[in-house]
Amino acid sequence: MEVAELQEALGPEQPGFRAQQLYRALYHEQAVDLIQISTLPSKLRQELAARHTLGLPACERRYQSADGTRRYLLKLADGRTVETVLMPETGRDTICISTQVGCAVGCTFCMTALMGLERNLTAGEIAGQVLYVARDNGLLPERARLNIVMMGQGEPLLNLPNVLKATRLLADPEGVGIPPRRITLSTSGVIPAIDELGREPVRPKLAISLNASTEEQRLELMPITRKYHLSDLLEACRRYPLRPWEKLTFEYALLKGVNDSDADARRVVKLLANLNCKVNLIALNPGPGIPFETPDPERVAAFQAIVRRSMPCFVRKPRGRDIYAACGQLKRVVSDLVPSPDTRQNSPANVPPHSALR
Ligand code: SAH
Ligand code: SF4
Repeated sequence: MEVAELQEALGPEQPGFRAQQLYRALYHEQAVDLIQISTLPSKLRQELAARHTLGLPACERRYQSADGTRRYLLKLADGRTVETVLMPETGRDTICISTQVGCAVGCTFCMTALMGLERNLTAGEIAGQVLYVARDNGLLPERARLNIVMMGQGEPLLNLPNVLKATRLLADPEGVGIPPRRITLSTSGVIPAIDELGREPVRPKLAISLNASTEEQRLELMPITRKYHLSDLLEACRRYPLRPWEKLTFEYALLKGVNDSDADARRVVKLLANLNCKVNLIALNPGPGIPFETPDPERVAAFQAIVRRSMPCFVRKPRGRDIYAACGQLKRVVSDLVPSPDTRQNSPANVPPHSALR
C-alpha cells in the first residue's frame, strides 16, 4: 500500500505522519509483525494487529543450485504459489521476480507458458517477493547493490497498474529504496503498454524479448506477434522516451537450428540499427515439453561476434538450470524433478549434474 492508502486504513482520527511512519516501517525497515513497529504508539499497534495482517508471502520451498542460485516457491495469501529467484554475484545480487501466476502469452519455448495464466499478482505480492528474498539472505543493509529483474513468471505489461505500483514501492527511498535504474522489466512486446510505460515518471528500465529475426519466425515462437507485429514493436521502441542514462535491452533466446544462424544475426543487426540498445543472448534453457534444443557454445559465440560488431552484445550465463530456476524454466509443477528442497549447503554433491535433468 502506498502512503495515501495507509492513511485511509488508519482512519481520519490519526495524524498524517502516522501513515508515513507505518509506510517506512513496512517497506524500509521490513517489519514482519505490526505489533513490533516501535515508532507507533502501542495502543495503535494493538488495534492494527487486531484488524490487519501484513500479507507477506511465506516460503513453501527453497531450492539451492550448485552455482549459488536459489529458487523460492512463495505461498500467497490465497494459497497459490509463485516463483522468485536470487542470483548472487560478487559485487551485486539480482532478484528475479514474477508479476503474474503463470502467463497467457504462450511462447513456444517457455515453460511458464504451459501453465496458462492463473491470475495477476498484486503490487504488494510483487514487492513482497523482494522483501522476502532480501530478508532471507540478509541483503537489505546493502540494498544499493541489489538489482531487480521482472523476468520471472508472467508478462509484466499485462499487469501494468500493479507493476507500476510495485515499482514505486521498491524505488521510493522511504520505501524499499532500490533505485529505478536497478530495476528492469522484460516484455514480450505489448505495444500500447510500452507507450503507457514511457509516460510514467517512476518506471523500470525496459527490456524487450526479441527472440526472432523475421516476422514469420517470431510468429512461430511468440504468438503475441499476431497482434503486435515485429515492425510495429520496433517502431514503439524507436519512439520510447529513454532517460539520459538509459539504453533499451533486447533479449534473444537462441534456439538450435531455428533462429541462431549467421543470417539471423545479420538481420538482428539490421532490425536494431539506430536504436540506443544492447543485446543479451540466452542459449535456450531446456525443459520437459519444450520442443527446442540448446545451440552449441560455438554457434552462440559466432552469433555474438556478428552482432557485437554493431552494438554491445552479451551472452547471459545460464543460472540455476539444475533447479529449474533459469529463464523460461519457472513452472512450479516441475518441483518434483529437482533435488530435495531446502538443501542449504552450496555443495555440488547435493545437486545432480545438469545432464540428469535434460
Ligand atoms: N514475459 C516476459 C518476462 C518473463 S520471460 C518476457 O517474455 O519478456 C524472461 C525472458 O526469458 C524472456 O526474454 C524470454 O524470452 C526468456 N525465455 C523464456 N523461455 C526461455 C527458455 N526456455 N530459455 C531461455 N530463455 C527463455
Ligand atoms: Fe510469458 Fe515471457 Fe514465457 Fe512468453 S517468454 S510465455 S511472455 S513468461
